[in-house]
Amino acid sequence: MATERTLSILKPDTIEKNKAGEALAIIEATGLRPVAARMVHLTRKQAEGFYYVHRERKFFGELVDFMTRGPVLVLVLEGDNAIARYREVMGATDPAKAAEGTIRKRLGANVGENACHGSDAPETAKFEIGYFFPGFEVG
Ligand code: ADP
Ligand code: MG
Repeated sequence: MATERTLSILKPDTIEKNKAGEALAIIEATGLRPVAARMVHLTRKQAEGFYYVHRERKFFGELVDFMTRGPVLVLVLEGDNAIARYREVMGATDPAKAAEGTIRKRLGANVGENACHGSDAPETAKFEIGYFFPGFEVG
């Protein structure tokens, strides 16, 4: 299996609840390793650019409101098959549907405020890592 890098965001709800450490403990327990980190309070422009694929969705405005309401912790995670593995560690988008032991099951409130973000494919990981860490090695 190939070593990959993926982008994780611990969203404003997780930071507000002082649960970044708990989310990170779940991540580290799986063997995924942080190799870069930044704490950022996103501007609307940054959030809109990051989530541009969703710009036509009806929840887009709500998503941008949420993502800009406080700081987030942005991480690059590395490991074998990191992209798919981190999606598993996060759990389903809707915390009510997320499996036991996942970050979203443990910390998410609802389908909007769902604790964390993770890249969904190699191309998106490349775009998202570059978005926050320009020039950083993506693979
Ligand atoms: P994921 O984060 O699991 O990849 P999506 O890419 O589909 O999920 O959506 C991006 C983010 O938009 C979600 O993590 C969530 O914060 C928000 N979102 C998704 N669906 C909804 C919805 N139906 N209502 C409100 N917010 C949503
Ligand atoms: Mg997504």
